[in-house]
Order: sequence, then C-alpha cells, then structure tokens
Amino acid sequence: MIPDNTKKNPIIFYFLFILLSFYFIGYNFFIPHFTLLENEQNQNNINTVLSKMNTAIENIKNITNDYSKWDDTFNFINGLNKDYIYDNFREGTKTLEDLNVDFIIYSNLKQKTIFSKYSTDLPEIDKKLFEKEIFKRFEYETVLNTIFKYKSYYFYLIKAEIFKSDLTGKTNGHIYSGKIIDDEELKRISNVFEEIHISNEYSKKNGLKIKHEHLKNVKVKISYKNSYINSNIQFYDDENNYIFSIITKNNRSIVKKGKETVIIYNLIILIFLLIIFYIIYKNKIILEKYNKLLELKVKRRTGQLARTLRKLQEKNKELFTLAHKDYLTNIDNRRSFFIQGEKALKNSIQNNSQFSVLMMDIDNFKKINDSYGHSIGDKILIEFCNIVNKIIDKNTIFGRIGGEEFCILFMNISIEEAYKTGENIRRKCEDTIINIDNKKINFTVSFGLSERENITNIDKIIQQSDELLYEAKESGRNCIIRTSPH
Ligand code: GH3
Ligand code: MG
Ligand code: MG
Repeated sequence: MIPDNTKKNPIIFYFLFILLSFYFIGYNFFIPHFTLLENEQNQNNINTVLSKMNTAIENIKNITNDYSKWDDTFNFINGLNKDYIYDNFREGTKTLEDLNVDFIIYSNLKQKTIFSKYSTDLPEIDKKLFEKEIFKRFEYETVLNTIFKYKSYYFYLIKAEIFKSDLTGKTNGHIYSGKIIDDEELKRISNVFEEIHISNEYSKKNGLKIKHEHLKNVKVKISYKNSYINSNIQFYDDENNYIFSIITKNNRSIVKKGKETVIIYNLIILIFLLIIFYIIYKNKIILEKYNKLLELKVKRRTGQLARTLRKLQEKNKELFTLAHKDYLTNIDNRRSFFIQGEKALKNSIQNNSQFSVLMMDIDNFKKINDSYGHSIGDKILIEFCNIVNKIIDKNTIFGRIGGEEFCILFMNISIEEAYKTGENIRRKCEDTIINIDNKKINFTVSFGLSERENITNIDKIIQQSDELLYEAKESGRNCIIRTSPH
C-alpha cells in the first residue's frame, strides 16, 4: 500500500484552492455590484437634493409671478396704491416666512428700489449695496431664475417684470425675490446625506454633467475616502463661471454590507466544503480499511493457493514416480521404459542414428534368494542399479523390465561403444563384494547385445537381445553375447 501521507496533502490543497477561488469570485462579483448600487443610490440622492432646490426656486418663482402680475403691484409702482405695503408687508406680519422667501425687492425701470423687505433670519448685509449689485448684474435680464453669489452668501434669485393683469400695458418695474442657500437650508432639503455643506472647493476636472430645469449647469464629482463616498456638486452660471459647490458625505454602507455578504457567503461555502471534504475523507478511510482487509484476504488466499499448488506438485511428482519408476531400485519401470524406448527408436529411425539394446539378467538369482533371503536379494538388485547408473551416461534409457532382468538402450553410439559399457558393468559386478551381516556376497550378470538394424519394433529388438542373453546363459553366464559384427 502507498503510505497515506502523500494523499492527504493534495486534499488540503484542493480544499484551500476551492475556498480561495470562491472568495475571489465572490469578491470580484459582488463588490463591483454593490459599488454600482452605491453609485446609483448616491446619484439618486444628488438628484433628490437638486430636485428640492429646483422646487424651492419654482416656489419663489410662482410667488414672484403672482405679485408681479397683480394690478395692485402695478399701481403701487405707479404710486397709486398707497396701502399696498401696509396691506402686504406691514411690520409684525410674518409674510416673508409664510411665502418662504428671504427677501423681496420692488424696483422701477430706473433701477431704483421702490420697496424692499428682508427676513430677520438673514445675516447682516448692507441692503443698499446688495440691491445695487443685483440691479447692476441683472439689469438687462427681464426674467431670471438663478443662483446668485453675494460676498460669501448664495441665494436663489428670481426676477419678474411687473405687468397689468390684462397684459396690455408695458412693464413699469421688476420684482426680485430670493432665498438664502446655507447649510441649514441644505439640511432642510436633504435628509439623504449624513453630511452636507456649502463650499468653494472645486475641481478643474470635469465631472458628470447634470441638468435640472432651473439648475442647468451642474457638474458632479464623486470621490471615495476611507469608508465614505463624497460628492462635490458644482454649480456654474450660464457663462460657465463657477458659483459654488455643495459637498455631501455618506458612509459606504452598501459596500460595507456587500463585504459582509461576501464573508457570510464564503462562510457558508466553507461549511459546505468542510462537510463535503469530511464525507470524502471518511469514505476514503473506510475504503482504505476495506482495501487493506481485502489485500490481507487475497494475500492469505494466495498463500493458501501456493501451498496447495506446492502440495499438488509434490503429489504429481510422487504419482509420476509411482507410475514411472520402479519402487525398489528407483529406475524406470517396465511401462516407462517401453514408452521412452518406443519414442527413442522412432527418433533413431527418423534420424538414421545408431541404436542398440543391452539385455541383462542376474545369474542364479533364485539361488541367492534361497541362500541369503529375499531382502538380501533386494539389496543386490539395488546395488546392481547403482553400478549401472554410475557407468551409463544420459544418452541411454535404463529400466527394470522383469524381476532381476534389466535393459539399457544406447542412442547415438556404436555397438562397440555399447559393448564396452556392457563389459564395464559386467566387470564391476563381478568385482563387487557386498558385506551384509559379516557375509561377503558377490554376483555376476549375463548380457545379450544387439543393434536396431532394420527392426522398427522395440519389442522385437528386445526379444532379439533376450535371445542373445539366453545364449550367454547357455555359454556359462557372466558374459556378453552380441550380434556378430558385419
Ligand atoms: P539364471 O541364471 O538362469 O537366470 O537363473 P535364475 O535363478 O536367476 O533364474 P530364474 O528366472 O529361475 O529366477 C529368478 C528369480 O528371481 C525368481 C524370483 O524369486 C527372483 N526374483 C524376482 N523378482 C525378485 C525381487 O524383486 N526380489 C528378490 N529378492 N527376488 C526376486
Ligand atoms: Mg531371469
Ligand atoms: Mg537370473
């Protein structure tokens, strides 16, 4: 088994890789969305402020128009309506506050103030200089809806011509009315920003252009600082001259929420991943356990099989020996000898090679048995086979074909060579003295040797050698009789 350590590290690696991928995908997907939302909301907030400023201008304009198109006003400018001021603007009345304007100025066509009234809420300004400045600046305008800067103050300013209500006559003067734009006014119209104030800050870089009916020339610059979104709403006049700015500041709560969402989303992913990886890990452990068990079982089975196979091989060997070997002398038995002999003869005929048969029979063996006993007879049989095995080489087939009858087939050697081998055996047997129970026993063997010649049957060649062996017995034993050389 491969050790587990090599497999655990990649699991941690995959885990971290997936988690980080989700984090980066989540972050890069959500945050731009939330930033976009935040920008949209900021834009809407700016629009709200501008629209409220516009409404304020609209309101002043309506009031101014009401007064300017009123016959009483026309008559008042012509010096006819003496009670006009008392009726409309007498001390103690809260008319300006009710009208929601900070000042109202009546002037004739000579740019002279006929009447003016200022709200007590206004900061101290020199009214004469203020009016002079207005008349000078807007002398040639007939109607006006604008933002006007005077010293460090900013005003909505409306100018309207005074007409008779039937619109038949010419104008005999103008009404200027306005309202101060200060931080308080801004706070009143804006509840959408955390901070809003008037400023002179202005950036040369062009911001987003916005038009809002009476506020035609507005540019907005958005900037981000720390966790705040800041807007610089810049107001320009019709000639593109910068007037003033409104600075707003809001906490980036949407993006902050977005970041929290990404973290929560990643925590959920983390929990999911932990569960999935835990299940995978558990399954892996179980699988490895089963694998180990299986391997153990297979090993055990393989061992058993190998042992069984070895036993079977041994048994086969035993069976082979039983079937092919002589139980006493452990040389080829009659059956095995004849099977091999037939094959060898066939080969010899095919290859036209030499082939000779040596038949051997122990002399007077019956007598040996009778004199020393059957077991000593057996020992002589064993000793005889040992002698033969030591002399013959592997080009021979040696077998026991009867009780004390043996046969050797010689291949690829001449009959002379076979004869010499037979002689060696004969002499060795003759010279061998066996010591058993202090008895010295010796034995001799008779031989019959013949060649294959034209014979194609193993039995027939053996029979031929057997006949020669019989002759050997007849001629006094312990000798070899062979077919006479041609
Ligand atoms: P000859 O010289 O003419 O061959 O005489 P012999 O006595 O050897 O011949 P015979 O064929 O009459 O006797 C063979 C004897 O061999 C008979 C049998 O009892 C004995 N014999 C056969 N097989 C065995 C054996 O496995 N063990 C023993 N001890 N004797 C055997
Ligand atoms: Mg015999
Ligand atoms: Mg014999």
